[in-house]
Amino acid sequence: MTDIQKARDVRFGPRPRSVLDRLATKISVTSDGHVLWTAYCDKKGYGRFTVGKTGAMAHRVVYAEVVGDIPEGMEVDHICFVRNCVNPWHLRLVTGDQNKQSRARVDGRSTSGYPGAHWDKRKAAWRAEGSQSGRNKFLGYFDTRWEAYVAWREWARLHMPYVNPELLEMKP
Ligand SMILES: [Zn+2]
Repeated sequence: MTDIQKARDVRFGPRPRSVLDRLATKISVTSDGHVLWTAYCDKKGYGRFTVGKTGAMAHRVVYAEVVGDIPEGMEVDHICFVRNCVNPWHLRLVTGDQNKQSRARVDGRSTSGYPGAHWDKRKAAWRAEGSQSGRNKFLGYFDTRWEAYVAWREWARLHMPYVNPELLEMKP
């Protein structure tokens, strides 16, 4: 620190640290390239960070600081699916609908263990159903859960470009 900086600090108090400087003290880099948030995480596992008096999601703050503005209505999505990762290159801007696609998982209601495949008691068959922009798309009835899943998978490949690729690669 130069004398001029010291003199400035005496006169005005220490210069506030930049957001990036503060972020840099709360991370740990893993061998596979994730930058994990080591400070407070919320119940869902997302890092939290306070800017001024406002709490924010850490990965959103990092995105805005390092990559660029987050336009109104856009969400910051984890490409790596690690919720407390703040590596800006593991993040991307998505619309709410795209983010829903990427968060899709095996439905809790589903007894099949596969996404998009549900047991239909009335029809006594496996029902395949896609979901897009909050609307359900009926894809057919099948004898096995695997066939229903395969029907969903074909549909999802075309209509859910942001889906977690793991969901498209399930084994019988
Ligand atoms: Zn990551």
